[in-house]
Formats: sequence, C-alpha cells, structure tokens
Amino acid sequence: MDTQILKGDILAEKLLQLVSKKIEEFKEATSTTPGLGILAIGEFEGGKSYRQAIEKLCKEIEIYLEIKILPSFISLREAIEELEIFNASPNINGILIEMPLPANFPEKDFLLHLSPQKDVDCLSLLNRGKFALDSFSVISPCTPLAVYCLLIEYGIRLKGSHLVIVGRSNIVGKPLALLMLRKGIDATVTVCHSKTPHLEQFTSQADILVVAVNSPRLITSSMIKEGAVVIDVGINKIFDSKLGKDIIVGDVDFEDVMGKASAITPVPGGVGSLTRVLLIKNTLKLAYLQRGLEDETFLLS
Ligand code: NDP
Repeated sequence: MDTQILKGDILAEKLLQLVSKKIEEFKEATSTTPGLGILAIGEFEGGKSYRQAIEKLCKEIEIYLEIKILPSFISLREAIEELEIFNASPNINGILIEMPLPANFPEKDFLLHLSPQKDVDCLSLLNRGKFALDSFSVISPCTPLAVYCLLIEYGIRLKGSHLVIVGRSNIVGKPLALLMLRKGIDATVTVCHSKTPHLEQFTSQADILVVAVNSPRLITSSMIKEGAVVIDVGINKIFDSKLGKDIIVGDVDFEDVMGKASAITPVPGGVGSLTRVLLIKNTLKLAYLQRGLEDETFLLS
C-alpha cells in the first residue's frame, strides 16, 4: 500500500501566511505588536529546542517574545510572582508555561495563577474546564488542535472512526480525546497509557492512531491495522550510530509502518511544525480579544 505523508510543515507554512497578514492588521489597528511570554521552570532538552523553534518563528513574523527561565528549585511563591509579572505586562498577550514542570512542583496551585485571558495553550484550570464543556471554549490547546487541523486538511474522516490515542497527558492525550469526542467531530475514542495491558490489542483496532508517549519508535507495523492513519506526536532525540550523530525521531517506527499505514505524519515536519504556528495563532487570537477587536472569520478558523 502507498503511504501518504501528512506534511504538517506545508500546512504550517500556509497558516503562517494567514497569521502574518493578521499580525500586520493588528499592528496597524492598535499601533502595538502582539507579544508572547514563555515561562519555564528548570531546563530540559525538549523544552529548549521547542523554545528555540518558537524564537525563530517570532523573529520571522516580528512578534514580541519574552522568555523567563526560572531555576528548578524555585519556590511556588516566587514562581507565582514571576507569572504575575507576565499576567500584568501590557507587552504580553499570550503566556506559555513550559510543560512538564519539575517533579514535585505544585502544578495545580501554580496554574491557578495563570490569567485565563492570556493562557495560550489552555492550561489554566478555568480554560481546561471550558474546553471540556466544548461550547464555552475560547482557546484550544495547540497540540490537539494541530492533530485535528492535519486530519481535516487531508480529508481524513473522523465521524464514526475509531481513534486510539496512546498517552494520557494533560497537554496532549486527554484534551485530544475531549476534542475528538465533541458532537460534530464524532470519533469513537480509546485512550491507552503505560498501564494498559497488551497495548497492541488496542492500537491494532485503530482507524486513526495518535501516539504521544515519549518513547522512540515504540509503535511498529505489527501493532497497527492495514490502512490505518498514524499521527506521531512524539519528539525524541536519539543517537544514530550509523550516522554518528543525534537525530530526531517520533514514537512510531516510521520506516517500519510505511507500506502498511495509509497515511502517516513525519517527525520532524509533522505535528510539531503546526503546533508552533498554532501557538502564534492563539497568541494573536488572545491579542485581538483583549483589544475587543474580534475578527470572527479568523478567530473561528
Ligand atoms: P508525557 O510524558 O506527559 O506523557 C506520556 C504518556 O505516555 C503518559 O500518559 C504515559 O502513561 C504514556 N506512556 C508512556 N510509556 C508508555 C508505553 N510504553 N505504553 C503506553 N503508554 C505509555 O508526554 P507528553 O504528552 O507531554 O508528550 C509526549 C510526546 O509528545 C513527547 O515525545 C513530547 O516531546 C511530544 N510532544 C510533541 C508536541 C508536538 O507538538 N509535536 C507537543 C507536546 C509534546 P502514564 O500516564 O501511565 O504515565
């Protein structure tokens, strides 16, 4: 079977052009520049490369970016003080809190202080609740939205499909399940995690398989159904002994499933490229809303 490559980077480029145009319109209308604030607590490899990619993007489309990297041992009170500075800053329209936070950091107590009006990735407790009750949602989390946009762009049928998600994190697996269950989208959803016994029994039933696990090449061809659509969210850096250098791979063994899957996202160049542009789109959406300059056609897209 020919396997179609679902090119997130091409869709990302298309979307970026639309976003750039809207940024110009926003600048003209308000004489201000939309701004994104990234707040990280502690450093980890994935976070660093994500940040660098966003930095590059913000430079390219000329939006204001401020990055705060706080030490991993920071107290909750001090971290909240730093967050409140972003909440109050007139230069910042969207705030991204880099996840995961360090183990033992009181995540929920911290996220309670994230302004829902500036919450660009739907992490505040209020926005998560609204997202779960779909009709009230203002902002959608970027990675689940990227998965959805890719499936729609390539005309992949969701209604009536069995969509299996591997991974139940609060930023990918769980919100994606909620999104796909929405009335009007109408997928039938199964969510697996590290305690799911016989994972392959679930993955092999998927019409659409989404994998967000953080485990390089976990999913192989024997675990998928012939003709399945495979969306690989994973981003893992591994050492390739043949090439003698580090490379980025997904959670799916790309070469192995080629020929069995009907479609697959590459890593890199798949979900990640689109996620970054959607982060900028969400920042701009919040900037428009904060100024009372709602533009329905753009905001709903
Ligand atoms: P988390 O580590 O927060 O969650 C991983 C999930 O996978 C958990 O639910 C865990 O189960 C489950 N899991 C781990 N091992 C297995 C296994 N062997 N079998 C079944 N389930 C397993 O990761 P994230 O959701 O934050 O990220 C996942 C991947 O996606 C990472 O590689 C990350 O870099 C990437 N990512 C990519 C983005 C993009 O835009 N492309 C954006 C965000 C993340 P349990 O809950 O039981 O521990």
